[in-house]
Amino acid sequence: MKKEENPPSHKASTVAKAMADKSEGQGQLMEKIISLCKRRGFVFPGSEIYGGLANSWDYGPLGVELKNNIKQLWWKRFVQQRDDMVGIDAALIMNPKVWEASGHVAEFTDPLVECKKCKRRFRADHIDPNYENTKVFDQKIKCPDCKGDFSEPRQFNLMMKTFLGPAEDKASVAYFRPETAQAMFVDFKNVLETSRKKLPFGIAQVGKAFRNEVTPGNFIFRTREFEQMEIEYFISVPKTDAEWEKIFEYWKEEMWNWAVGDLGLKKDNIHECECEPQNRAHYSKRTIDLEYEFPFSRSELYGLAYRTDFDLKNHFKDGAPYHDPESGEKSYPHVIEPTFGVDRSVLAVLCDAYKEEEERVVLKLKPTLAPYKAAVFPLLKNKPELVEKAKAIYNDLKNDMMVAWDDRGNIGKRYYSQDEIGTPYCITIDFDTLEKGEVTVRDRDTMKQEKVKVADLKDFLSKKLNA
Ligand SMILES: [Zn+2]
Repeated sequence: MKKEENPPSHKASTVAKAMADKSEGQGQLMEKIISLCKRRGFVFPGSEIYGGLANSWDYGPLGVELKNNIKQLWWKRFVQQRDDMVGIDAALIMNPKVWEASGHVAEFTDPLVECKKCKRRFRADHIDPNYENTKVFDQKIKCPDCKGDFSEPRQFNLMMKTFLGPAEDKASVAYFRPETAQAMFVDFKNVLETSRKKLPFGIAQVGKAFRNEVTPGNFIFRTREFEQMEIEYFISVPKTDAEWEKIFEYWKEEMWNWAVGDLGLKKDNIHECECEPQNRAHYSKRTIDLEYEFPFSRSELYGLAYRTDFDLKNHFKDGAPYHDPESGEKSYPHVIEPTFGVDRSVLAVLCDAYKEEEERVVLKLKPTLAPYKAAVFPLLKNKPELVEKAKAIYNDLKNDMMVAWDDRGNIGKRYYSQDEIGTPYCITIDFDTLEKGEVTVRDRDTMKQEKVKVADLKDFLSKKLNA
């Protein structure tokens, strides 16, 4: 139920200052990334032909590939390759009692102030840096847009409300889940009974969540509809702090390994940040954020929390849900929760990969993440024998990987076009292919070209792509 993703040192006035301090180049960088995303089909403004919808974004043909690659890699690493983890895919609208038990109905709120003159709304804690501590809004602060006076703050629940069935009355109120976590607690017994897992073990889920943010923004960083990859890792009731701390540290390392190893983010761009007790969600005994140096500010990428037995105790009031298979002892397992934002992962990957080099813009994506692994070009599109051979190679590669086809313009333009979307290898079919059975393979990062036998091409690529 953590609401404020930015730690206190990055809030309000400090955020404004940090934004001002960030060079103009950083602001431009964000603009360039947004522009590339739109131009090449990674991310479009949502509902654009109707004038858009504030802060809604659609993943286009390349964006969906990048996003799916991230999610699949995560699932493979954290679920399929582990013996102590299973996955679920729960309904996103749950019984409203779930959100009463979890505390969301009562406490998942942000303080909201409204400008009396222009009616614009702000979060009280964003506009008054002392609000977090004092809980009193400083009325000397005026609207940054029109200098009008602000209303007193009121608590605004972030859950998105809807009605099930035709009657829009109190009995049919339901909520779109504000986090994926609760389903892992609610389904705990069913998962346990069907999977026969023993402590420690985890349940993972990837899916959409919804929060009626007062002020979303920064492209796909903060949106009202977003996607999470979450793990609830259940452990025996710890007898000492050292017991849970050890597992907490383990997951922290795993999160670093994922960010740096799997996503290829630069270590220097990631920071670990301990949440102060007053800023932690009430259930959490310890929270660490991994923050990323986004062009707009240093902001939360991932979070890790020790949720104690808070959740299972709330949902299983009639009795402990875990029975130790050996001792038969009943208990409420404790929970370590690593949370990963999907959209934030995509954004961090794009920011990290974006490079401008002399004549070209290049996305230096890890090959595992790149939408296309290779592109195939016939040297000349008016030579049917070249086109035919190129098509054969293209069709064959398509069985194993995502491949792009391009026969427009000259080879230089095609390279430029593939560099900009991060395609690791470009394969040109020329007259040597017809005569000697060789293609020219060009490497995105080094721009070096080498001749490879058609017969060896798949082996060559699979070695390079999995390196
Ligand atoms: Zn105003």
